[in-house]
Amino acid sequence: MTDKAQTLILEGIPVSPGLAEGAIHLQHTLLGPIDTPEPVGQGGVEEEFSRLDAATASISNDLLALATRVEKEIDTRLSGVFEAHQLMANDPSLREELRREIAENLISAGSAVKTVFLRWEKRFLLMESQIARDKSDDMHDVAIRLRNALAGITVHPLDRIPHGCVLAVSRLLPSDTVFLASRSIAAVLLEHGSVASHAALFAREMGLPCISKLPNLLSTASNGAWALVDADTGTVTFHPREQQKEIFRKKVEDKERSYAYARERAAIPATTKDGITVSVLANVCCNEDTKKAMLNGAKGVGLYRMEQAYLGCVMPPGTDELLNEMRWTLEAAKGRPVIVRLLDIGADKPLPFIRFLAESNPSLGRRGIRLLREYPELLKTHLRAVLELSREFDVRVLVPMVTLPEDVAVVKKCLTELGAELDISPLPRLGAMIETPAAALSARKLAPHVDFLSFGTNDLTQYAFAADRENAAVEQYFDDASDVIFRLMQATHEDVPEMPLSVCGELAGRPEHIPRLLQCGIRTLSVAPALVPMVKEAIRKSTCGKPANKRG
Ligand code: PEP
Ligand code: MG
Repeated sequence: MTDKAQTLILEGIPVSPGLAEGAIHLQHTLLGPIDTPEPVGQGGVEEEFSRLDAATASISNDLLALATRVEKEIDTRLSGVFEAHQLMANDPSLREELRREIAENLISAGSAVKTVFLRWEKRFLLMESQIARDKSDDMHDVAIRLRNALAGITVHPLDRIPHGCVLAVSRLLPSDTVFLASRSIAAVLLEHGSVASHAALFAREMGLPCISKLPNLLSTASNGAWALVDADTGTVTFHPREQQKEIFRKKVEDKERSYAYARERAAIPATTKDGITVSVLANVCCNEDTKKAMLNGAKGVGLYRMEQAYLGCVMPPGTDELLNEMRWTLEAAKGRPVIVRLLDIGADKPLPFIRFLAESNPSLGRRGIRLLREYPELLKTHLRAVLELSREFDVRVLVPMVTLPEDVAVVKKCLTELGAELDISPLPRLGAMIETPAAALSARKLAPHVDFLSFGTNDLTQYAFAADRENAAVEQYFDDASDVIFRLMQATHEDVPEMPLSVCGELAGRPEHIPRLLQCGIRTLSVAPALVPMVKEAIRKSTCGKPANKRG
């Protein structure tokens, strides 16, 4: 492509931030070669059954190995995706359906996989919840793996991807993303894929700039065309002019310079211009995260999501298992405050060992503490593990999805009883997540039961705007930096001025909003490990305008 080609700008949704440039590598399909539908005679049916069983066993081993690798190298939560794929591949009803397809239609195992998986994928796509729809990607991924195993294909379609390119594809499946982890590409552009999809999660964890929902990307982009990718704003410029390249490179340099400066000062406390020191903690998922957070100057862990230890488990984990998992994940933060949030599981993120909760509106149903109140044994098991952890770590407990004072009172009672049983004193401090407008406006009633409050701005926005946080179709309604959210925080602070307030939702990691958060009385921010230095720098440039509360 020559410099004379027309400059073109496409706008999409930023999925994983960052700035990058490179030549476009267009990939029309990542599906790999597909064997043609193949009839088999009656006598071949048994052989197809055996081929199918062998392929399933082989991909199961691969998936478990992949899960272990991802857990070590990337993230525990993400390794759960491959454990789930392994469970999907071995689902008895899926196996039954595949065998029926072979036997009744006298077709090869490969052809049966294509038909049956397409059927399942469509079922998921028709479901209402975005989480269920994202499952169609998972089905697709498992299908490709199985068909490739049946066809003896071991080469991944991205095997020949050039170093440093900008990959343009229709959609990205979880295993494609892991594959990309070992290739040094500059950025990914997608036609489809929500911010909450597994692929998006991978891209963010790997720090790979990624923009999604770029309209007509595959028909617009051309192979080899130069592209400037601004995944901070969701803009991609094809065939940029020299001047546009210069401006972009200057932006990259500025960003790198300010990041390097912030990294150098990471260990220094974050004190505002008017002398108030703000705690910057980190949201962590795995052992690597905690190490990275501490190196980046985090004062401790502000959010450990307990569900990480549960996802992918077929049986409920016991106290010892949970304790070991938390010890390993939080190891680098020993001696510093660590906030463990109790299990925040909802009806649309079911645990395999809890009976299916048929609810027409799962995010307004039994989620977080509501579910724990219905399953007190589940609450006790992990609370016991958290209490055991508090013998070795400076633990605080956080209750998710609080709406009523009883939601925290129940946990306090349980904590007190278990503490006496285990002879633990003092008990960890207790906090409530403020994720519903009702909780934000009832701080006075929550206050007698808790020691601190932490705003989960992701859910607070979802519930304030009645906009599903995972549904890209209502994205324009989801504005977590809106006045509405700040006013809710301000009201909480005015109602309980002495109460330590923190923010652990995504909003805390956006430097441009930090001055306003501080003015709403927030004195603790918990952000992704990589963001800690920049957030501390933003605090240093801000003014609180008020004295810190006494208990902060
Ligand atoms: C939030 O809702 O802002 C939050 C931090 O919790 P999660 O994202 O885990 O729901
Ligand atoms: Mg939440």
